[in-house]
Formats: sequence, C-alpha cells, structure tokens
Amino acid sequence: MAGHPLPAPGSSELRELLARDEARLLYKSLHRRECSTGRLSRAQLDLWHRNAVDGQPPLENLLEDLERVFRLEWRGDPQASESTVALVGWAQRPRTTQTDALDVQPISLRVRAQVLESKRCSQCGRTPDDHGVVLSVERMLPISWGGSANIENLHALCEECAVGRWQYLETFAAHADAIRVAVTYDEPQRRIGELLRTVHPKWIRSDVLGVVASAKEYQEDWQRRLRDLRFLGWDYEVQKTGQEGVRVWSYYRLTKSAPWPANIPQAIKDEEALRKAKRRG
Ligand SMILES: [Zn+2]
Repeated sequence: MAGHPLPAPGSSELRELLARDEARLLYKSLHRRECSTGRLSRAQLDLWHRNAVDGQPPLENLLEDLERVFRLEWRGDPQASESTVALVGWAQRPRTTQTDALDVQPISLRVRAQVLESKRCSQCGRTPDDHGVVLSVERMLPISWGGSANIENLHALCEECAVGRWQYLETFAAHADAIRVAVTYDEPQRRIGELLRTVHPKWIRSDVLGVVASAKEYQEDWQRRLRDLRFLGWDYEVQKTGQEGVRVWSYYRLTKSAPWPANIPQAIKDEEALRKAKRRG
C-alpha cells in the first residue's frame, strides 16, 4: 500500500481501518504531528491517554490497533518516558497470524468504476439522476472485519445509507477481532453461527449475516445456510422491527448453540435424512 496517502482523520477510510473511536483519536493526534512537528514523547502520549480517553482502553491496546495498519517509528525504549514516536506510513506487511492479517489493499479505479456502473444505491435504490444522491463505493464486510477490496465485497451506497450502515456496524466494533476469525471458516454455516455467537446477546441485521455468509464464496441462498444451523442443534430467533428510512430489516439472535461436528455438510445431510425418515414414520 506504499504510495497510497495516509487517510485523513475523520475519513470513512480511517473508520474502516480502525474500528475503535479511541484508536482513531490517537491516530488523529499522531497524524497532526506527522504534518507539523513530527514526534510525540511517551510522556505526552500518557498525558493524552489520561486526558483524551480517561485512560481506557489501555494505551498499549490502542497502539496495537494502530500498528496493525500503520507504521509507528519509536526512538528509544517504547516504555521509557523520554522515548518518542511518529506515524511514518503504512505497516510494511500485514502480520501473518489469522487475527492480525488485514487487507489494506486500496480499491482499484477499474473495480470502483464497475461497482458504480449500476448508478444506483444498492440499499435504497435511489439514483444520482433521479434523486440527486452521491454514490460511493463501500466495503460490505469492513476492513476491520477482514473484508477485501474485491468486487464481491463492494457495493455502491448513497451518503445517507453509507452513514446509516456505518453507525450500525460500529455497534459491533468491540467484537471486531472475533468477527475477523469467524469469517475465515470454510463453511458458511459456521461463519454465520460464530458471528451470532460472538455478538450474542445482541441482535444482528440480515444484511450483515448475508455478507458474512458470503465472505469466502457467494451464497445464493444464505438464509438456507442459516436454517441449516437448526440441523446442528443450534437455534435463533427472528424479529422484523428496526425500521431505517423506509426499509424494514430482519434481525437475528442466537438462542442455542452446540459444538461443531467434524464434517459440517455431512452432519447436516444426515440430520435432514433422519428427520425425513421420522416424518414418513
Ligand atoms: Zn441509499
């Protein structure tokens, strides 16, 4: 990602990269330095941490958030109060462990044009010509959840829908690490199940479940993959309440979970056959 300019504080790109509000605040104060005097001392950092975010979450966690994506250059022992730090660019290469791997690949201009070809907000259906909306290309699965810059993970949204979606997704920021792990599983049922389990007792909206179900390969009928969970001893409840604009969403919440069998597709097939046989008597 060398050559790609660092995101501006407050930009939607930064929001995608850093899920936590406090991490974005820290970025902001380092970014300001980068543009003017350069470095922040450890003592200044500690002072910022106490004053700007009331000491929570721990400074080390916030620095870790930043270092997953950006390169911080330390002079001196980072723990010593006279050491200094500067924001100097993007992280050289994503860390290799599963939870740390982040795709910070920018969206190519060609792909961007392809996504915008529909000339229509994929959520509310409004168009620039008829409704004067401004469309932007957004990741369905955000970067902080492991979402890629591939076309399958992109959609065109109007400003209003993009902001609404961001506000919604932000309510799961605390679960970003667990969600990143959940989306790496091979079976769509397991991706859905792990997501429901991670955010429990919160409700999760249908569009988010659909995107997570399709995280590895597109699922024509992700609701069916969700129903599959019931063959594995899992269960969930559905609510159609939350109304955002004119659209009514379905929300899902886990009510029961079970250990995963070694072979998920086979276990589903077996249970399906068993229930059919029972019905036949
Ligand atoms: Zn819209």
